Amino acid sequence: MTKIALVGIGKIAIDQHVPAIAASPDWELAATVSRHGTVPGIPAFTDIDTMLAERPDIPVVSLALPPVPRFAYAEAALRAGRHVMLEKPPGATLAEIHALQAIAAEMGVSLYATWHSRMARAVAPAKAWLHGQTITRANITWREDVRKWHPGQDWVFEPGGMGVFDPGINALSILTEILPAPVHVTAATLTYPANRQTPIAAALVFSGNVSADFDWRQEGPQTWDIEVETHKGHLALRMGGNVLELDHKPVTGEPSIMGEYPALYARMAELVSTSTSDVDLAPMVHVADAMTLGRRLVTDAFEF
Ligand code: NAP
Repeated sequence: MTKIALVGIGKIAIDQHVPAIAASPDWELAATVSRHGTVPGIPAFTDIDTMLAERPDIPVVSLALPPVPRFAYAEAALRAGRHVMLEKPPGATLAEIHALQAIAAEMGVSLYATWHSRMARAVAPAKAWLHGQTITRANITWREDVRKWHPGQDWVFEPGGMGVFDPGINALSILTEILPAPVHVTAATLTYPANRQTPIAAALVFSGNVSADFDWRQEGPQTWDIEVETHKGHLALRMGGNVLELDHKPVTGEPSIMGEYPALYARMAELVSTSTSDVDLAPMVHVADAMTLGRRLVTDAFEF
């Protein structure tokens, strides 16, 4: 087993990273770095530089921080010769991830920009079904309750927090994985709460008759759907990429039995063992382009 340090002990670290690492045959959680958070029984640091200096036995660092503070931690770990795994979105800007890629290449270590939704059970079968087909229409509907998934996390509404694109980029990570040919944003409408810096809803139009509807104000049942029309028929991915429907009938096939985060950690083990990197910025390019082209609407102030 290879020792790994987990950084940013907050919601996703506790919900997903810690159990995935604990269940993995590849990894041993050897340290945490967080200003307040800890994991019972695991040596805890509050400062990344101290951990990197005192634990040369830990070759891999997984960063579960929000995107804005993550760059400095990633840069420090790469410069210290550690392999680095990044939560999604991989950074606050595209240029900073290009910088991390260059440092990783210079240091000869692996950089993995994870997209957990790409590991959802039905994504690979959907990609296989769409391979070689002509898409006539595609639509994403990604509507969830921000109070449920990001309780009290004001950073999502601060500059760099991405607002509704924080979940929306998960949908875009699936779209960019399954479509047989790339599309690009041609128009966007972004709806901002009067008291916040990032959108709470977004409607995107892409080339190729593709569209997306993201909304963070949906209470009750949540909607994470992608529908694709082709000459061959209709495909739908529901439940965030976990359920596949073909021609409106659920498909029982042999989807991956591994959960999203265990699959990410298995992929990281593969990358480290082969000294390779995996950084695909296509989902983030769409977000950046939507922000560039977006028409701004203002709605009611938002408080958690
Ligand atoms: P979070 O709980 O708000 O933050 C994680 C931890 O990061 C915090 O507990 C905090 O730990 C540390 N942190 C926060 N701001 C910091 C700062 N300015 N400087 C240094 N450390 C800071 O966020 P999260 O929900 O876990 O999300 C983290 C990342 O995971 C995001 O990129 C998000 O998109 C992704 N993600 C989240 C979810 C979800 O359901 N929430 C799902 C999938 C992916 P300390 O105070 O102890 O330092």
